[in-house]
Amino acid sequence: MSSLTEPHRIDPGHQADLAGRPSREDGGLAKSDATKQLRKLIKRLDALQELMYAESKHSLLVVFQAMDAGGKDSTIRNVLGPLNPQGVRVASFKQPSTLERAHDFLWRIHQQCPGGGHIGIFNRSHYEDVLVVRVKNLVEPAIWKRRFEHINAFEKLLTDEGTVIVKFFLHISRKYQRKRLQRRLDRPDKHWKFDPSDLAERAHWDAYQQAFEEALTRCSTPWAPWYVVPAERRWYRNLIVAKVLVDTLESLKMQYPEPKIDPATIQID
Ligand code: AMP
Ligand code: MG
Repeated sequence: MSSLTEPHRIDPGHQADLAGRPSREDGGLAKSDATKQLRKLIKRLDALQELMYAESKHSLLVVFQAMDAGGKDSTIRNVLGPLNPQGVRVASFKQPSTLERAHDFLWRIHQQCPGGGHIGIFNRSHYEDVLVVRVKNLVEPAIWKRRFEHINAFEKLLTDEGTVIVKFFLHISRKYQRKRLQRRLDRPDKHWKFDPSDLAERAHWDAYQQAFEEALTRCSTPWAPWYVVPAERRWYRNLIVAKVLVDTLESLKMQYPEPKIDPATIQID
C-alpha cells in the first residue's frame, strides 16, 4: 500500500482513534496536482474494472459510511461515476422494510453483494445495524453487541468466495456538518436533500462517534480493512478513495483469460 493511503487505514487490532484523526487534510499536495492524479487513477480504475470483468474471478465491494452530509453521494458520483455503468452497481440502504425486518440483518445485504467481475458500492451498509440501531436503541444492546462478530464472519465468507472488500468512513467534524447542512437550506436546488431528522441525528453526534469508534475498531480486519478518510477537502477525499481502490485491484495481479482462439488463424472477410 502506498504511503499516501496507508496512514488512513485502521490496522487490525488497533483502536480507530477517530478523535485523534484529521477530518481535513491535504497530504502535502496542491489541489491542481491531486486533481490531475485523480483523473489518471479513475482511468486506471476503469481499465482494472474491465480486466476484472474479463477475468471474472473476483468482485469488489466498496462500503461507504459517514455522518449525514459527510459526502457519500458526492464521492460515489465523482470517483465511481465515471466507470462503465455495466460493471458497477450502487445499493443504498435505508430503513429496513417490513419484509427485511422479518429476516436477519444481513439478509438484505447479501442479496446486493457483487457477483464475479462486478463492483458493488454500498451507500450505507450492514454497519447501520451497529450504528443507528445502537444510538437510537432500536434493539437490545445484547443483540447489536453480538453483531460485530457476525459482520466479521460474513465479510470473511465473502472474501473467501472471491470478493475483495474495502470500507471507507468519510470523516468530518461536527462544525463541518453544520456548514454542509446549512448549504442544503441556503440552496433551493438542495432543499430536497434537507431531512429534518438529520438535526435529530446531529444531536446524537457524540453517541454516533462512539458507535463508529467501536465498529471501526472491531471490524477493521486483514480481509476487510476500514479507512478513515479526511473528507472536508473533497479533492483529497476523492484522491484517497481512488488510490485505495486502484492499489487494491492492482494487488490482485489479474490477467486476461487465455484466448479460446488463435487470432492468427482467423480471417474476417
Ligand atoms: P439517507 O441515506 O439520508 O437517505 O437516509 C437513510 C436513513 O436510513 C438513515 O437515517 C439511516 O440511518 C437509516 N437506516 C439505514 N439502515 C438502517 C437500519 N438497518 N436500521 C435503521 N435505520 C437504518
Ligand atoms: Mg439523510
